Amino acid sequence: MMKFNHALAGELGLDASALDCDEGAALFSGNQTPFGAEPLAMAYAGHQFGHFVPQLGDGRAHLLGEIIARDGNRRDIHLKGSGPTPFSRSGDGRAAVGPVIREYIISEAMHALGVPTSRTLAVVATGEPVFRETVLPGAVLVRVASSHIRIGTFEYFAAREDTDAVRVLADHAIDRHFHALRAAPNPYLALLDAVLQAQASLIAQWMHVGFVHGVMNTDNMTISGETIDYGPCAFMDAYDPATVFSSIDRHGRYAFGHQPRIAQWNLARFAETLLPLLHTDPKQALAIAGETVNQFPAVFERHWLSGMRRKLGLCTVEDGDLALVQSLLDAMQTNAADYTNTFRALCDAAEQPEHLRAWRSRFPLTKDFDEWFVRWQGRVHAEQQTSIDRAASMRRVNPAYIPRNHRVEEAIHSAVEDGDLSRCDELLTALSLPYQERESCNHFAQPPAPSDCAYKTFCGT
Ligand code: AMP
Ligand code: MG
Repeated sequence: MMKFNHALAGELGLDASALDCDEGAALFSGNQTPFGAEPLAMAYAGHQFGHFVPQLGDGRAHLLGEIIARDGNRRDIHLKGSGPTPFSRSGDGRAAVGPVIREYIISEAMHALGVPTSRTLAVVATGEPVFRETVLPGAVLVRVASSHIRIGTFEYFAAREDTDAVRVLADHAIDRHFHALRAAPNPYLALLDAVLQAQASLIAQWMHVGFVHGVMNTDNMTISGETIDYGPCAFMDAYDPATVFSSIDRHGRYAFGHQPRIAQWNLARFAETLLPLLHTDPKQALAIAGETVNQFPAVFERHWLSGMRRKLGLCTVEDGDLALVQSLLDAMQTNAADYTNTFRALCDAAEQPEHLRAWRSRFPLTKDFDEWFVRWQGRVHAEQQTSIDRAASMRRVNPAYIPRNHRVEEAIHSAVEDGDLSRCDELLTALSLPYQERESCNHFAQPPAPSDCAYKTFCGT
């Protein structure tokens, strides 16, 4: 067992001491099946980079089963890298230690940031080699998610024109995630709307923390609204909506700033799978679906703007707020300012404007920043809140620590090359309380050196 997440085991109501040992490793590597479990690989289809693939499926993963967690909700326990399945095609069904540790760090960081996500219960080294461009040590990641129902799961059955199966799946998704919708006049339209709301809220939260998923194919988007399938994802340092890390995303389809648009495109694919359930008349079904999906930009903007207001310490709503936020982002882009640290510095500046001078002196900023700062000061001072309270509430939404790429790489490097997990543990400690600045963790808040900025990620978790 390379890593075991005791906090998560506690939340799930699992006996950590019975699992963080060789017997646990045997279960989590897939070598032994838990009593009564019937592991399976799930079928799904999906649009990959805009192109439909009628059959993908779990090619390197097994759903071990479901458990009821302490909060009463059902969770999937899923093994990633557990060997070939009927969906493996030409793949080996394996995963390498590096990408598995990467998923552990980033998914746990996302959880601590408050973003809905699958989580990582454990990492088990298989002791077997995995053959990529080089020979790498193999590992299995134990993933916990509220379900693994993807837009691609719906597409799988819809592509086969199996409307009965789509209905069974939709009923199951409603029961599992949106129970109250069963009583809706048209539960399937209500499901489409609920998934749209969940995705809009999720993508807004990604944008708030500077997360780039990297492969927003429809098979990687959940119905539950949880972030899933961590592959070439990464956090942005300097603000730039065109930020792309994934080496396979050559045209920037999944760039940071494109994520809301892509989410809407994916929802349109989801809506298409539900058409026969929305109305018996295909024309009317299309009209209903279109009307719902077209609401996405407004729903997204509502979620995004209310989060951006919180990031700027605003508790009231004013017409000019969108323009105020946009001009800050423009100034950040012009100055290649660090996204996370700019907002964190604004927390200090909210408490004491003099702080901004100290922070500002570290950057070669243009005067648009100063102009923006004066506008923002005018806007916040018209509100009732004290500056102390404002700064405190801003620090609860603007993280000090994100999994910065150069730190994640360092942690992976020492785990893979030297079998040393201490760097990974240190990083996880900082990321577990991302909103609480601590002297001992402050090196994790430093942006990368300019030479480290051209960061590239590769698929293969
Ligand atoms: P992903 O890029 O992780 O969303 O994966 C896309 C598809 O490729 C999924 O159906 C995966 O199960 C499959 N896949 C990725 N890597 C492997 C592998 N090493 N062996 C078998 N299937 C894989
Ligand atoms: Mg995937």
